[in-house]
Amino acid sequence: STPAAIAAALSAGARHGLLVKGGAVLETLGTIRHAALDKTGTLTEGKPRVTDLVAVGRSERQVLSMAAALETGSNHPLALAILSRAKAEGAPVPPAAGVTALAGEGVFGRLGGEPLFLGSARAAAARAAFSEALRANVETFEQDGKTVAVLLAGDAVAGLIAMRDEPRPDAKAGLRALEAAGVAPVMLTGDNPRTAAAIAADLGIPARGGLLPEDKQRIVRELQASGGAVAKIGDGINDAPALAAADVGIAMGGGTDVALETADAAVLHGRVMDVARLVALSRAATANIR
Ligand code: ADP
Ligand code: MG
Repeated sequence: STPAAIAAALSAGARHGLLVKGGAVLETLGTIRHAALDKTGTLTEGKPRVTDLVAVGRSERQVLSMAAALETGSNHPLALAILSRAKAEGAPVPPAAGVTALAGEGVFGRLGGEPLFLGSARAAAARAAFSEALRANVETFEQDGKTVAVLLAGDAVAGLIAMRDEPRPDAKAGLRALEAAGVAPVMLTGDNPRTAAAIAADLGIPARGGLLPEDKQRIVRELQASGGAVAKIGDGINDAPALAAADVGIAMGGGTDVALETADAAVLHGRVMDVARLVALSRAATANIR
């Protein structure tokens, strides 16, 4: 490939919201064999909506108020879903005390002296007993591709809030285009394995769920060891270690500043298809050396 062909491809990409940090990155993009894509905000819209509320020993409105009180200071996608539902229903949001977030698990706080927790079913199950009926509820929601936030009051389950984050409209087509280009997609997520598997099955790709940021980084290294270059596509601060470990780290859509700094490339319009377009752009620009 000539420097002129590379420069032309970089500027053609930029006109379509495909930003690539230099010719070396552009050449690597054409060689990737694996695409590890984050679920929330990458394969999905990243805008979950509350679909179901289950209240235990109080009203649904009270569960929503308590949950919203804990999430007031958070910009986690699940927090935004809960806050917008509370607003839509006009549920009061009382001020909670001592609110603390635990990454990948949820939030703690107190209301009227009562200790509360809101977070993943796994984190809640480590802190409280679940009845068979509640366990079945959680399982059914997860099989429907919903993420369940569990509210604990003291050491008892006070409610369940199920939320669903829909796949991006072009996700399936983008994944098929990657496969047609010889790139194998896989979903990586901190969300629970059952929800991840349900969404991934809709999209026709494998999933790895229940991952911490360091797990995502480890899986990128495993894929590299299995042969071929790996692209990691993500939007969040959680993804920085895995983005950095990948042969090409791609920031998706309006990603965080951290993701954009760590990434080698960015797709500004948040289309999964644009990842396949990056591969095609690279191969077209480097065709004359193959
Ligand atoms: P992802 O890989 O999808 O970005 P995260 O690491 O952000 O996932 O979170 C993993 C899980 O931890 C979430 O699916 C959720 O169950 C729980 N969680 C984290 N933060 C919160 C919060 N503020 N409110 C409710 N649940 C949370
Ligand atoms: Mg994330």
